[in-house]
Amino acid sequence: MKTIKESARETRVAREADVVVVGGGPGGIGAAVSAARNGADTVLIERYGHLGGMGTGGLVTIIPQLTDIFGKQQIVGLTQEWVDRLKSREAVVYPKEEHWGSTDKELVKSYFDQIFFYVRLDRVIYAAIIDAEISKVILNDMVGEAGVKTYLHSWGTEPIMEGNECKGVIFESKSGRQAILGKVVIDATGDGDLLPYANIEFEDNIPPNFRIANLALCFWVDGVDLDKAESFRKNDPQKYMELARKCMEAGGFGGYMKSLLKNQESVVWFHNRYPNKSQVDVEELTRVEFEGRKKMITTYDFFKKNMPGFEKSFIVLSCPQLGTRSSRRLIGEYKLTIDDMKDNQPFEDTIAIFPDLDRGQESLDHPLQYVPYRSLLTKNVDNLLVACRAFSSDEHVQEYFNLIPHCIAFGEAAGTASAMALQAGVSPKNVDIKALQKQLAKQGVPLPDIGKKVDYKYTGPALTTPPFMIH
Ligand SMILES: Cc1cc2nc3c(=O)[nH]c(=O)nc-3n(C[C@H](O)[C@H](O)[C@H](O)COP(=O)(O)OP(=O)(O)OC[C@H]3O[C@@H](n4cnc5c(N)ncnc54)[C@H](O)[C@@H]3O)c2cc1C
Repeated sequence: MKTIKESARETRVAREADVVVVGGGPGGIGAAVSAARNGADTVLIERYGHLGGMGTGGLVTIIPQLTDIFGKQQIVGLTQEWVDRLKSREAVVYPKEEHWGSTDKELVKSYFDQIFFYVRLDRVIYAAIIDAEISKVILNDMVGEAGVKTYLHSWGTEPIMEGNECKGVIFESKSGRQAILGKVVIDATGDGDLLPYANIEFEDNIPPNFRIANLALCFWVDGVDLDKAESFRKNDPQKYMELARKCMEAGGFGGYMKSLLKNQESVVWFHNRYPNKSQVDVEELTRVEFEGRKKMITTYDFFKKNMPGFEKSFIVLSCPQLGTRSSRRLIGEYKLTIDDMKDNQPFEDTIAIFPDLDRGQESLDHPLQYVPYRSLLTKNVDNLLVACRAFSSDEHVQEYFNLIPHCIAFGEAAGTASAMALQAGVSPKNVDIKALQKQLAKQGVPLPDIGKKVDYKYTGPALTTPPFMIH
């Protein structure tokens, strides 16, 4: 490989902070807001002009999997605060609380007919459909009110390392190359961008048949007569399937989802999958941007010409940031693996509980996934944490537990722990776990009874539908 040697240079220090968070997606929002609310002087660096990551810019506007198979809400905290703030503007929809966990067949069908995210394992679950644009404003409010100093249009390029200590981050922007110095650095880039430069161990193997092996270029089509489109899909499913097949043969996508948000009755979404060699390879990202837009036009042209209801439709939006599902994963203090998905016991350092809903009978037998704080800690750099989908997990755990609410929960734990560690004068690795759990519980994070053995065996009815996972 041909290389060049760059000359050494002086770099301006833009700011000194307690906690520096790189990446303003679900993980970064969780981390920055929690660190600041717990008293840390916090800086957030985001490469784009908006916050929310895939949840806004990727047009992935579904916050799913909030309740478990018993209908109990397991992910609350900052995720619920985001939803509550949206609710006050009628910018979110979700199943009624009294229906969460219901197995009533008619009710389940009526929710499934609205959108399949509302149903898992023959039950109604709590999944929220959110407005991306209002979310961007709300997330700005959340970091602003917490006192986080945010730099948008700023690309975190490198951690500043002194031996095994991270002293801050270099970032590039229209203002040039600058440094932020910090006592704790949190990588919330989704892709673990800081890891290779901090000499931190990571892996990136993803089996090609996994959901997370795919990039996406989501887009929205507006001006659809949905009554007409839906009655065609319902009344003539064979003809609909035939047209969908022809669209795919022509190089497009066959299926759409309808937006359920108020006043979006004419909007449909096209989510998609693009296999790739790597989701952090710039040539692959460029290829999918080109290929994705071509496929978008092919799909749109076909639907407009052939699908009833699409006659006056138009492409209203393609995702401002390419959909990345997974890339680098930390090999941290504790790596969550497929074996942990077969276990029903909490960890001593549990910082979050995730409902397990996508694995059919396996999920019924193991309905909760406990997450240890150690899965956010690196082995060799005590003051650098990972709070995003790059958390320490094997490909199986990553496949099921890297969604928006999961990443907010990682952030909430990492940000809170960082602030508490700084107050106690210890490194985040040595934070008082019991005190951290107490503080998280105070912030509305459900946690298990630590030290108490879970005695659970599924004895309910057999599943009537096969598992499916579309994220
Ligand atoms: C098509 C698709 C469908 C999905 N469906 C769902 C779904 O239905 N529900 C669900 O919950 N999840 C879904 N997911 C998964 C989910 O969106 C992600 O796993 C989740 O958003 C990860 O959060 P994160 O904070 O780790 O990373 P991201 O959401 O990727 O956020 C990372 C943030 O960091 C910023 N950033 C990255 N690198 C840098 C850098 N070097 N410097 C500064 N900023 C940087 C990015 O711009 C971004 O804002 C889907 C994903 C895709 C792609």
